[in-house]
Amino acid sequence: MFTVKEIFFSIQGEGAFAGRPAVFCRFTGCNLWSGREQDRVSAICNFCDTDFVGTNQDGGKFSKASELATAIDAKWPSEQPGKYVIFTGGEPLLQLNTELIDAVKALGFEASLETNGTLVAPAGIDWITVSPKMGAELVLKTGHELKLVYPQENCDPSEFLELEFQRFFLQPMDGPLQKENTALVTDYCNANPEWEISIQTQKLISVR
Ligand code: SF4
Repeated sequence: MFTVKEIFFSIQGEGAFAGRPAVFCRFTGCNLWSGREQDRVSAICNFCDTDFVGTNQDGGKFSKASELATAIDAKWPSEQPGKYVIFTGGEPLLQLNTELIDAVKALGFEASLETNGTLVAPAGIDWITVSPKMGAELVLKTGHELKLVYPQENCDPSEFLELEFQRFFLQPMDGPLQKENTALVTDYCNANPEWEISIQTQKLISVR
């Protein structure tokens, strides 16, 4: 059984594939926060900007991987090439499995994952983005893109550079200090060119 908050077609706003059209499959639930505001202060991850609780009208429960893959495919504009699905959350690795990856690939999709890196990923994912959270053990130490929300308490980005990723992004933490955080990220990336800036462009252009 898969529980999905929402499935929608939009533009990837962040990281290496910013600007690429994608179907987003947002799974319900996360292992680092309940998603309830009253629990935020005591959560391991407390800066989340995503609603991953329950299911929306364009989400739901799917008993089979093939059913969920069909629902994802239905969101892709017919006739448009370059099918691309991003599994996100919440924490998608609480639910994503090889069966679902195989099912979307059989429909012609490239499969991408955005994870907090605290769980092992199944095989077959084409692009893995890991976004480590301080205070949570990082289990998934290889992938394609490491995207670090910055600043975080006790976070030294240089400690991640030894890990096996193709690209390293710093993304300003959103919230009341977003402007100051963007300046911090800019300064850090200027001084440390291994790091690239990731801006949440989906917020700038007001898409999901
Ligand atoms: S790990 Fe990701 S989904 Fe979970 S609470 Fe943190 S930012 Fe939100």
